[in-house]
Amino acid sequence: MPCHPARARELLAKDRAVVARQAPFTMRLKDRTLADAEVDGVRLRIDPGSKGTGLALTDEKKEPAAHGPTVTARRGLVSIELQHRGDQIHHSMRQRAGYRHRRRSAHCRYRAPRSANRTHPDGWLPPSLRHRVDTTLSTARRLCRYAPVTEIHIESVTFDTHAMSAGRPLTGTEYQQGPLAGTEARAYLLELWGRACTYCGITGVPLNIDHIHPRSRGGSDRIANLALACIGCNQAKGSRPIEKFLANDPVRLAQILRQAKTPLRDSAAMNSTRWQLTAALSTLGVPVLTWSGGRTKRNRTAMGLAKTHTVDALCVGLLDHESGDVIVRVPQQVCLVKATGRGSYARTTPDRYGFPRLQRPRAKQHHGFITGDLVRATMPSGRWKGTWTGRVSVRSRGQHSLTTSAGRFNVLHRNLRLLQRAEGYSYASKRETPKIS
Ligand SMILES: [Zn+2]
Repeated sequence: MPCHPARARELLAKDRAVVARQAPFTMRLKDRTLADAEVDGVRLRIDPGSKGTGLALTDEKKEPAAHGPTVTARRGLVSIELQHRGDQIHHSMRQRAGYRHRRRSAHCRYRAPRSANRTHPDGWLPPSLRHRVDTTLSTARRLCRYAPVTEIHIESVTFDTHAMSAGRPLTGTEYQQGPLAGTEARAYLLELWGRACTYCGITGVPLNIDHIHPRSRGGSDRIANLALACIGCNQAKGSRPIEKFLANDPVRLAQILRQAKTPLRDSAAMNSTRWQLTAALSTLGVPVLTWSGGRTKRNRTAMGLAKTHTVDALCVGLLDHESGDVIVRVPQQVCLVKATGRGSYARTTPDRYGFPRLQRPRAKQHHGFITGDLVRATMPSGRWKGTWTGRVSVRSRGQHSLTTSAGRFNVLHRNLRLLQRAEGYSYASKRETPKIS
């Protein structure tokens, strides 16, 4: 059961507990087992996001009110912000594709390109999104192991732009490969712009697909840059930027630009990953309850809280404001869990032009440490004299690089002691943003 730091110090000082993990700090009681302990259990609340996911452990105290029904007071016990690295994965895969592309065109030894008509198995997600589901699931699984989680509450829907355009509920990867792929884009655009010309609003005439920001001026082919234009408007606009074309209709211009700015890809990705995440969490053996983003927002504003990933997670789920349900405690320390990965399979590091820059050693472990280990360094002398804790980045010569809160410096492997083996995450803590009110 999550406890106060002072209580943890007391248990350790009296030798009643041992440290099981350094980060997130977890202890194991020596004098009591789960069988002869009485725990109320906690609830795990998850707010999945595209850059970061908030997780919160809460307990609930039911107090009989002076009049009417009982009041539930929700207390936040632990806040965790999981930071994803989807952008980094996307970037690395693009870089690898570029590297292979250069080797092919330069007639070096290369991997032959694979045909583009391969199909994906059911439930396939791009690696950058798959990583989001996997890391959130593994963090939730760990929390279920460390704490007596009785229910998982997850925010599983925010907005359903795609389903609205298709006119029926969509599931899973349909968001990725369904109405938006290839020729379906046209049907989607017709729905999106109401089967009318985007610029003059005329209906019942042939409509062309038009680039809002012209391709000749660097506009992309992504769906958010596409609109429908009647032949007249299409020719009148030509390759002029939309700002010039609609200079005397600022209202319509603002409306179209707002539509174009909607991050469609982000929301589509978010929907498909949330759906898969909910399905994956149900394998943990704990009941999973899903809630809408609207309810989270209502709970947060009613409590006068600032928007962060962890506060949103705390606000997920049912709060009966009419009968006086409240959130009475927001944890002031947030545990930042950053997905760092477990290293690279690449055998060389290319420079910015795709030429091999250096050969990587095949071994990951050097002098007993691997990159990402949580270590304690004891520096005998010099500018960094003293004891430091941080994440190590190994060098084959044994002069490892240590990142601490105060800075980064080199430490000889003999002066290091392993606290926790690297497992693909780095840990830090930060203060929670205070209340708005
Ligand atoms: Zn028109």
